[in-house]
Amino acid sequence: MSATCHPSDELLVAYGAGSLDEAASLLVATHLALCPRCRAEVGRIEAMGGAVIETLPPSDLGADALASVLARLDQLPGAPMPRSPVVAAPGLPSPLRDYLPASLEALPWKRLAAGIEQAILLQARGIRARLLRIGAGIVVPEHGHGGMELTMVLQGGFTDSGTGYARGDVAMADQQVVHSPAADGGETCLCLAVTHGPLKLTGLVGRLVNPFLDL
Ligand SMILES: [Zn+2]
Repeated sequence: MSATCHPSDELLVAYGAGSLDEAASLLVATHLALCPRCRAEVGRIEAMGGAVIETLPPSDLGADALASVLARLDQLPGAPMPRSPVVAAPGLPSPLRDYLPASLEALPWKRLAAGIEQAILLQARGIRARLLRIGAGIVVPEHGHGGMELTMVLQGGFTDSGTGYARGDVAMADQQVVHSPAADGGETCLCLAVTHGPLKLTGLVGRLVNPFLDL
């Protein structure tokens, strides 16, 4: 079944332009692996970018332009190397598998609260990508966000503010959102979550759980 909740157009444009941070790029690329609609959209965006370059007047492309562009490309840091051969985690899209060890169990899972675990995949400049494993039927303590949070379902599903999210779907939350998503019953919910800025737990349960969250 195709995803029904997609990254915003702004995110897809930023991805197509190559201007997203690594963590958000990982999430969008993982979504694209499961979503033909967004793959087509990003293809259109990239084609539009190429068309814009073609409209530049020739005077902007002097004889040395190609050499200087190539020289600048050589100075850019290379793409991160996959950490392990893609051998495990069946059912997970390949952009994500490149960041995983041979087995999900080999990740440094850390218990956040009863029935909720996280494993951090990437962390830089306040931006974090992590896997979340939420037991069937478990309700995540109410919390807000210091910045944008993107959550993509890899397995199982969850419900947040009346909207159901299934495999491939992306939920977006910003500073205005205070929520308490709940994993669907039946099977463990596995999500890829990208947060920009720390989470802010609210409510009594949040304050009680806060010491465990380390967020
Ligand atoms: Zn999509």
